[in-house]
Amino acid sequence: MSNRKYKVAALAGDGIGPEVIREALKVLRATEDKFGFQLDVTQAPVGWAGIDEAGKALPDDTLKLCRSSDSILFGSVGLPDRDPTIPKEERPERAALLALRKEFGLFANLRPVRLPTELAHACPLKAERQGEGIDMLVVRELTGGMYFGQPKTTETLDNGETQAIDTMVYSTSEIERIARVAFKSAQLRHKHLTSIDKANVLENGVLWRDVVSKVAADYPKVTVEHMFVDNAAMQLLLKPTQFDVVLCENMFGDILSDEAAALAGSLGMLPSASLGVTNGEKTFGFYEPAGGTAPDIAGKDLANPIAQILSAAMMLRHSFGENEAADAIDKGVGSAIAQGLRTGDIFNAEDPQARQVGTTEMGDSISAAVST
Ligand code: NAD
Repeated sequence: MSNRKYKVAALAGDGIGPEVIREALKVLRATEDKFGFQLDVTQAPVGWAGIDEAGKALPDDTLKLCRSSDSILFGSVGLPDRDPTIPKEERPERAALLALRKEFGLFANLRPVRLPTELAHACPLKAERQGEGIDMLVVRELTGGMYFGQPKTTETLDNGETQAIDTMVYSTSEIERIARVAFKSAQLRHKHLTSIDKANVLENGVLWRDVVSKVAADYPKVTVEHMFVDNAAMQLLLKPTQFDVVLCENMFGDILSDEAAALAGSLGMLPSASLGVTNGEKTFGFYEPAGGTAPDIAGKDLANPIAQILSAAMMLRHSFGENEAADAIDKGVGSAIAQGLRTGDIFNAEDPQARQVGTTEMGDSISAAVST
């Protein structure tokens, strides 16, 4: 019996959450058998499912489970048509998601964006701009900057005007720790890091550039380029293939990661990881698809489970160091795509190789590829 045991809290949430989590767990089970580790997975309600079952979006028992787990595999939460009278601080997006981010100090958000050549049709860019396929990782700082800096107020001035203030604050240690996450990721990829800032206008940008340049000295195999955020927004559309790892502060990362996500064609293909502080060999992580609950397609076997399955692969890699198993899942997804399997969101009727499949068949196929 293996002594590699990991405790996972699986929180499916609302909408398509339960369907896609089911497929991710199926694929995880296949890696467990093959690579000889054990996953102790416990499912618990969150979001509207939490409100229905225990009266709040993040039930106490769910939080307790998360605290005693090594990582969280999360679906998504929120149903726009449910009770509009519920106060916004009790709504799932805030009461569950933001609360978990805060509870576990999740400061690093990793969003890989990959467009395989077989899915070129799903990308809004012309084929010549896609080169041999787009493959980048956006690393976003998640707990600092303008979204959290103080003062953060709206006040009425003496002249009767209303004034809103948000404050951008970063300290050296905050920049350094996210930069290290990005450099380590670059070492495992194509060893190129583009650090985004606005050093020509913002004090924060000057500090950001300075700290990233100093951290770079510890990662001599990684080449570093500094790019202003406005240019980066443009370069993502003009030549996305120039990027490997893109490092951003919180607000720039929020915007650029969504812009980069659009290049992959479907939210159904995009996983994400949010990492907390590493303790010994363990990094607590929160793994979820980039998209939401997709109420328009929920319960119809239409959702693409790949984003959730790739999120599970990121969990194996970043929290458990089970890189071979994570590679096997990435390859399994590649093989399902290469075989022509497509959920509705990535289906192209003009592609003679493509066959439209449902959520379950996509999960079965990836799980089978992992097992062989
Ligand atoms: P959404 O991401 O749920 O859906 C946007 C579009 O993308 C829809 O057409 C949907 O069908 C499609 N889509 C998303 N994931 C897909 C998948 N796996 N396969 C195929 N198609 C997919 O965004 P929305 O409609 O703006 O939001 C719906 C709800 O989800 C809202 O309540 C929102 O607050 C919530 N939400 C939650 C999270 C989260 O839990 N992290 C993130 C975003 C949105």
